[in-house]
Amino acid sequence: MIEMNNVVKTFGMFQALHGIDLSVKEGEIVVIIGPSGSGKSTLIRCINQLEEHNAGAIVVDGTEVGRGRKRAALTEVGMVFQSFNLFPHMTVLRNVALGPVRVRGLSWAEAEERARRLLTRVGLADQAVKYPAQLSGGQQQRVGIARALAMEPKVLLFDEPTSALDPEMVGEVLDVMQQLARTGVTMVVVTHEMGFARKVADRVVFMDGGRIVEQGTPDEIFNAPRDPRLRSFLQAVL
Ligand code: ADP
Ligand code: MG
Repeated sequence: MIEMNNVVKTFGMFQALHGIDLSVKEGEIVVIIGPSGSGKSTLIRCINQLEEHNAGAIVVDGTEVGRGRKRAALTEVGMVFQSFNLFPHMTVLRNVALGPVRVRGLSWAEAEERARRLLTRVGLADQAVKYPAQLSGGQQQRVGIARALAMEPKVLLFDEPTSALDPEMVGEVLDVMQQLARTGVTMVVVTHEMGFARKVADRVVFMDGGRIVEQGTPDEIFNAPRDPRLRSFLQAVL
């Protein structure tokens, strides 16, 4: 579903990604961990072309993306951000329905029906006519997930989806993500929630200094880490 081959990303003189090789199979749940500044966000932002990589190749579902190519694959990739990024002047229902109307050409009636179904799925059926500011952070993030799902993406990317939440709201968002993982959608998740990584990931990828330093099953990464950088990272976060 995703194939990254020797992907390099620089910001001016600074090299944020040093030749990333990563492939993600259809239906696979990949969790990316690593210290702040290690390039996790840059990596996933290159996948959905919020950043343009400088060298190497990225193929999403058979289509090469970025480096001046048309952003065709973009609508196949959904993204959930740390900061929710909901439209404040639109109801929850409209927030979720907007993408399918604008990008997929659905009527408002069709899109709102889909939105209601998705809001039910994330446990927010009764919040549809509220505005984002009237919801808790955990609820807003669940709207963010419903909004990403409304585009029926083949891949869902999450960039620290629970980092902006009060601790008591983290669980409800992780629960929705765990349910989603069981539906067969391909997911790439950047998170500091090691419990989630252990429980839900098919594969854990550890980044440091713009490189993938180690990857493996949760058991390999958490119970038998090999690289000293991974060991000291785990010591700091666990
Ligand atoms: P992470 O998500 O792992 O914390 P990032 O991918 O956000 O790391 O950042 C990796 C490195 O790239 C950091 O050193 C960061 O300062 C740098 N970086 C990220 N975005 C930009 C940008 N737009 N301009 C300059 N440097 C950036
Ligand atoms: Mg980041």
